[in-house]
Amino acid sequence: MTAAHQGQQVNGRLQSEEGIDLARKALDLMASHSVAPTAHHYAVFTAYVADSNAELSAELKPHIDAGGPIADDILEDVYDRFFTFKRIQDAVMDVGGAMSRELGAVVKTLEAAERDTAAYGEALAGASGKLDDTTDSAGVKQMVEGLVAATARMQRRSRELEKRLQETSQEVDQLRTNLEKVREEAMTDALTGIANRKRFDESMRKARRDSDLKGEAFSLILCDIDHFKRFNDTWGHQTGDQIIRFVAACLSRFSKDSHVVARYGGEEFAVVLPGTSQPDAMLIAEKVRSTVESKRLLRKSTNEDLGNITVSLGVSQFRTGESVECLIERCDTNLYKSKQTGRNKVTVDGATGARSAA
Ligand code: GH3
Ligand code: MG
Ligand code: MG
Repeated sequence: MTAAHQGQQVNGRLQSEEGIDLARKALDLMASHSVAPTAHHYAVFTAYVADSNAELSAELKPHIDAGGPIADDILEDVYDRFFTFKRIQDAVMDVGGAMSRELGAVVKTLEAAERDTAAYGEALAGASGKLDDTTDSAGVKQMVEGLVAATARMQRRSRELEKRLQETSQEVDQLRTNLEKVREEAMTDALTGIANRKRFDESMRKARRDSDLKGEAFSLILCDIDHFKRFNDTWGHQTGDQIIRFVAACLSRFSKDSHVVARYGGEEFAVVLPGTSQPDAMLIAEKVRSTVESKRLLRKSTNEDLGNITVSLGVSQFRTGESVECLIERCDTNLYKSKQTGRNKVTVDGATGARSAA
């Protein structure tokens, strides 16, 4: 069953009394696990209480059973995998269906053209046979008229075929563009417009493959906003989102086209830097750190000064043969060191809390 069908089913149930009960259960469960009432979280919990997706339920159950608060990034990850991915799958199925219908129509037109060609061949063969024993001009005239009519039919058919093929090729181009758009959307983080976790995973695998093949350096930057909870608690979620967008823009500003800047988690970012050594990646990380620190950000709704925003970063260079997970782990350890040694820092492999702000 597709996610769309599941959605319709759940929505259908949500309009009934049973649905109201499900919605209440979902909200109660969210409240008891200190889950913020966002649309994504609500979608995940509704699917859970309606038991509309066994895999999703199995994924969420241990967190529910644990009883404590459930972190946003866990829920975002569940949402991403069970809703965004399902959506792209559905879109691919739709496009696939439209393509086969289109191709079916073309095959029919081709079959009809083939039948006409065979009939035309027979008409020609018949005419050439008759030519031998036809002596009167009326007979020749009749034969020529017959051939002219058959030729006109063939011309008409081949024009129709050409038109049909042209339409099909336009249709297929359009479908391809739509599919590309859906794919792009499914790889982009809606809040910041930068790459999402899925594209990050994809680029890491590609950068690792390329680095192994070409023997080029490849580095990773991980970045986490300092004391972000405090900003959220003081200014609210919306202003928190404004800060997330601001940091995403700073990271994009100092990255090259060949780098992939991604939202790795809630307020965590990553930059994949193919063809870049650790010292060069370190320079970029340092520019980001000092720029974030130097900018004064005003709260959009009230123009209040949000005070100093800082970020902590970790930088690591890929080591031949290691796994992507291993590189992320080393880089995360560097980020953790930046946090441990006072925040607003960049830490590279083999150095603790390098380049402090002061
Ligand atoms: P630290 O300096 O140690 O990183 O402290 P911190 O407060 O930033 O701690 P942590 O990184 O664990 O905080 C993550 C918080 O980010 C928790 C969650 O409420 C918030 N968050 C996650 N995703 C979003 C989001 O999309 N928007 C907003 N506004 N807040 C988010
Ligand atoms: Mg964090
Ligand atoms: Mg943080």
